[in-house]
Amino acid sequence: MPKTPEPETIAASNGIASDESFGAVTPPIFLSSTFAFPGFEQSGPYDYSRTSNPSRALLADTIARLEGGAGAIVTSSGMSAINLLLSRLEPDELVVAPHDCYGGTYRLLAARRDRHHFSVAFVDQADDAALEAALEQYPALVLIETPSNPLMRIVDIASISARAKQVGAKTAVDNTFLSPALQRPLALGADFVVHSTTKYLNGHSDVVGGAIVAGEVTDVEAFAAWANITGVTGAPFDSYLTLRGLRTLYPRMERQQANSMQVATYLSGHPEVAAVHYPGLLSHPGHAIAKLQQSGFGAMLSFELKGGVVAVRRFVESLSVFTLAESLGGIESLIAHPATMTHVGMGEEGLKAAGIGDSLLRLSIGLEPLAI
Ligand code: PLP
Repeated sequence: MPKTPEPETIAASNGIASDESFGAVTPPIFLSSTFAFPGFEQSGPYDYSRTSNPSRALLADTIARLEGGAGAIVTSSGMSAINLLLSRLEPDELVVAPHDCYGGTYRLLAARRDRHHFSVAFVDQADDAALEAALEQYPALVLIETPSNPLMRIVDIASISARAKQVGAKTAVDNTFLSPALQRPLALGADFVVHSTTKYLNGHSDVVGGAIVAGEVTDVEAFAAWANITGVTGAPFDSYLTLRGLRTLYPRMERQQANSMQVATYLSGHPEVAAVHYPGLLSHPGHAIAKLQQSGFGAMLSFELKGGVVAVRRFVESLSVFTLAESLGGIESLIAHPATMTHVGMGEEGLKAAGIGDSLLRLSIGLEPLAI
């Protein structure tokens, strides 16, 4: 039996040299919106690109293999992947979500809750009693984000997934911050993984996209059907670019997280820094769990400056190399101020509950060499 390829090999070479028309080494891009039927009342593998497309299918297959899933659906954005995840819920069902999740996820959950599509309990999932109380309400879905955006809080995927299963809930993990290179939630017991492929999977800040991966074929089919019904599938060109970026996922991650460890260490010894949130630091409250469930600490970190907004403004305006911008996971270093940028959609109350203050800055560390 052939040996299962290493993940690095899957990322670098899935679909390479598979073109039967001309022997193209790089899989061709199929931009066609529609495909010829072989004959009357006969169907081929593809008919219409909203439903399925060869370029998108190759990206989906690669992501599913890296996550160890039965299949994946590639969507037009990370938010459409999360929306797809929520599409199957009924009005009498409950979602347990992190109180400090990505601001867009929080906004989507709150908007759908307000329209009575389902109920939501925003919970500090690291608080055992709060999590237990939420699970006692028999949720249908537990959504996990670890490390969380932007505070890098870590929760135990295996433990939460097992406890959710006991009450009949499915577990979904937003794996955007680490990618399958550093964390594989399905192997830890989760049912679904969602991604903003905009970030590390593509890695070059030139595509907005998403994906959902499921461990069971029946779930893959159900999500694929909903993706077709609602039309949230990703474009072929975006799929092509994302796969091209994904080819280098593993070496990018390795270098970017090595840089991050050094930046985190430097910041934690700086007199003007009040706190550093990076799971690779021994002082991080989630360090032990991160070490167990991740194969690296990632390339995202956040920190708090002494001196409030005045210090934040001065700091941001004096930076070089780092660009003040939303998003993350690209080869270039970015800095964001979550309270006024990425997480503004949470509103004042949500920000306060999540502990996202004015002094917090988030870094996405790139490939640039360090000068510290
Ligand atoms: N999940 C996380 C953790 C994110 O950080 C983001 C975006 O920043 C999203 C989901 C949403 O992804 P997109 O911007 O591709 O819709």
